[in-house]
Amino acid sequence: MVNKKITKLLIGTNNKGKLREIRCLLPKRIKTYSTSSFNLKSPKENGKNFKENSLIKSKYFSKKSNVICIADDSGLEIDILDKKPGIHSARWGGKNLNFNKAIKKVYREIKKKDANWKDKKIKAKFVCALSLCYLEKKIACVQGTVEGEISDKPRGKNGFGYDPIFIPKNRKKTFGEMKFLHKSKIDHRFKAFKKIKKFL
Ligand code: IMP
Repeated sequence: MVNKKITKLLIGTNNKGKLREIRCLLPKRIKTYSTSSFNLKSPKENGKNFKENSLIKSKYFSKKSNVICIADDSGLEIDILDKKPGIHSARWGGKNLNFNKAIKKVYREIKKKDANWKDKKIKAKFVCALSLCYLEKKIACVQGTVEGEISDKPRGKNGFGYDPIFIPKNRKKTFGEMKFLHKSKIDHRFKAFKKIKKFL
């Protein structure tokens, strides 16, 4: 197979936190575009899992722009909540993606399952599916995960989404307390990126 290098790529997300993280992970030779360069709204994510939703986005944005698109679908799976919020992680933040609200909901739901949860380890993992499509054609689709636990209260102002309540395994700080450069070398997106790199 002739391995033609990708020279331009649309980053298929309307989430500014993700846009920044994905842009930093891409090789510098690639010229990147954001969905706002093409004035694109997000498609309905009605897949059954992270990979399906990622493919829905990369196909949709590529068809709309005629540019190869990389899209991710990611979220937080909490064991005691039967892997919720999972693919509904963004939806728990409501229409305005209010993550104070989503985090409160996480604590409320955990407490409903176990009133003494603060004395225990609440296992969780972040999952990231990344896909690369050109129009309807899938070029690649991979998944990366990072395991950890839920902190007993939100800590740190860095990052986005659920970062303040997630402590990766064998660390003390939440993602919200870590510097961006540190988080982005150990997280689920970085791990998925390592797998998709060879297709870029
Ligand atoms: P979607 O992939 O756009 O459907 O949204 C995934 C949601 O999962 C985001 O809005 C965040 O709430 C959450 N999420 C995904 N990755 C991260 C992360 O690295 N840190 C914190 N929250 C994340």
